[in-house]
Amino acid sequence: MEKVAYKELEAKFEELVSIRRDLHMYPELSFEEQRTPEMIATYLRELGLEVKTEVGGRGVTALLKGGKPGKTVALRADFDALPIQDEKSVPYKSKIAGVMHACGHDIHTASLLGTACALSKVKDNLHGNVLFIHQFAEEVIPGGAKAMIEDGCLNDVDVIYGAHVLSNVPVGQVCFKENYMMAAGDKFEIVIEGKGGHGSSPHLAIDPILIGSQIVTGIQQIAASRINATDPSVITVCSFDGVSSYNIIPDKVTLSGTVRTFSNEARELAEKNIRQIAEGACSSAGATSEVNYEYGYPSVCNDPEEALRIKRIGEEIVGKENVSESPLQMAMEDFAYYVRKRPGAFFNVGGKNPDIQAVFPHHHPKFDVDEQSILIAGKMFISLVFDYLNGSQQDSKEFSLHMSK
Ligand code: MN
Repeated sequence: MEKVAYKELEAKFEELVSIRRDLHMYPELSFEEQRTPEMIATYLRELGLEVKTEVGGRGVTALLKGGKPGKTVALRADFDALPIQDEKSVPYKSKIAGVMHACGHDIHTASLLGTACALSKVKDNLHGNVLFIHQFAEEVIPGGAKAMIEDGCLNDVDVIYGAHVLSNVPVGQVCFKENYMMAAGDKFEIVIEGKGGHGSSPHLAIDPILIGSQIVTGIQQIAASRINATDPSVITVCSFDGVSSYNIIPDKVTLSGTVRTFSNEARELAEKNIRQIAEGACSSAGATSEVNYEYGYPSVCNDPEEALRIKRIGEEIVGKENVSESPLQMAMEDFAYYVRKRPGAFFNVGGKNPDIQAVFPHHHPKFDVDEQSILIAGKMFISLVFDYLNGSQQDSKEFSLHMSK
């Protein structure tokens, strides 16, 4: 039945490409999506699925009930765009000034809609149900995933899968990863309040620029010497603001930056050490400090069994030579919240193709990917559903045949 579903998906390819291109031309920013969820809901209603809108805000879910009772598999695609001006010269270039699908969420959406269409044609053969989760606002913290989960989207779900297209992996390839895959991302801000003065008389002032510099150096040493080297982490100060002039020591300086970690231990150590370093440097110099540490998304940690299911299915679809392990990524992704609540795994499909200039990094004004990735992600979703819901059914059928011989 999988092959029948593949055929249905392939037959829809042109339509899925036009859906993707329509989304690409009319991208919407995180937490402002309106046209996109409306289009998704309309498409899924026409397939006869049980559609819910405004899930957790702007999310859409749709339930496909299989012909036989069983478990429920959730499949997730995000649909928000980025505040970037599209600089490609293609007919489907963004028509919205300063907004662009520069992360491939349009591809994810087209792929999941195609999967819903294909699976709805073979639903009588499914031993269980499929919940399609179309998520808003992945790009901006606090993200849409947390709100959709709080609104109950995972209540009846047994397992969840999600995919991300990558512009640095050749189209036709699939990547899986057991355990940690993408980092937790936190934000910190340190306000250093010293005492301003004349640049010629620093002894009469408390120089927050000097203190800030010591804090930057100290923070650089957290990942190097406080966190276990086998537990990858990155801590970067990205902004150092002190409005002043060449001969005036300012009163105040603000530093801010990002912390990327995988384990909870590393995350807690990073926060504790940032606070200690800032407070220590300020108090020894007679300045005051204020540290704000905000948690972003947690790390994506895949269920190893589900990651290996992705590997096995990927090998069947694109061949063993085209399946590899995803590298650890220091970027964050709010798919993390789903896999903290249910078993599941995130995976990557390649989208790179130099022949069509689909080579630029994510969030680049010329970002693009090969649309064949819509079909590969769709086939992966279809087979994951069949394998999870019907796999054990086939096993037990074979077992009973064996026993009756
Ligand atoms: Mn993304």
